[in-house]
Amino acid sequence: MSEVIDRRIDRSHMQVSDEVAIQISRMNKWYGSFHVLRDIDMTVHKGERIVICGPSGSGKSTLIRCINRLEEHQSGKIVVDGIELTSDLKNINKVRSEVGMVFQHFNLFPHLTILENCTLAPIWVRKTPKREADEVAMHFLKKVKIPEQAHKYPGQLSGGQQQRVAIARSLCMKPRIMLFDEPTSALDPEMIKEVLDTMIELAEEGMTMLCVTHEMGFAQAVANRVIFMDQGQIVEQNEPAEFFRNPRSDRTKLFLSQIL
Ligand code: ADP
Ligand code: MG
Repeated sequence: MSEVIDRRIDRSHMQVSDEVAIQISRMNKWYGSFHVLRDIDMTVHKGERIVICGPSGSGKSTLIRCINRLEEHQSGKIVVDGIELTSDLKNINKVRSEVGMVFQHFNLFPHLTILENCTLAPIWVRKTPKREADEVAMHFLKKVKIPEQAHKYPGQLSGGQQQRVAIARSLCMKPRIMLFDEPTSALDPEMIKEVLDTMIELAEEGMTMLCVTHEMGFAQAVANRVIFMDQGQIVEQNEPAEFFRNPRSDRTKLFLSQIL
């Protein structure tokens, strides 16, 4: 199951704090008349590494997209780092500047170089001087181990490299929380490992992370909590060893039997 995780994980900085990073209470969302998220209650503490799994269509993407207001919820409350998400644009922008997001399809700008992809938001949104933005971008490109690609275009890189650029690009905004939506699902098997390695390093540095992924090896190695969703609800959650050894609901058992 965990053949792609072949390293020892350094847990010395993986501490879960008492401080709350994300608080979701009784949150509901509809797409038109379709009730996609039902009474979601969820507290994420700083330093948590949460893996969210569940069948296709269960609402995983919608849930994490609500956390940075790429989707709007209709009832209940979402508070990110003390800021409540309402229609107030000022709050939405504040939350977005603290929350990085990495998608299944890397969503890089094809006509910009790797470096320009990484400096665009810092320069235009944060008003960082170009030279400083370049330095920060090179720092994170080194971190994801592709500094030599800085002056190429996304189309010249492999999928795994592009996804690592997408992660570096997020990190350039110095986020306090990272959201990942199936970051390895569009990758060839040999590239999955390099992206998971990057995510593991982030976890080792203490980043608060919510990852929608079916990489259960990653969940076992890195997550402190696994959340299982089905039909718009959180069905069960547990620490990984217990979650895999002792799934409680039949829906979780069925799901695990299909993916493991
Ligand atoms: P998951 O990520 O778990 O596969 P999603 O959050 O993408 O699930 O989708 C949950 C449900 O909501 C699915 O039935 C999907 O078809 C539906 N859905 C997703 N996005 C939209 C949308 N923009 N408009 C209407 N229905 C949507
Ligand atoms: Mg999805």
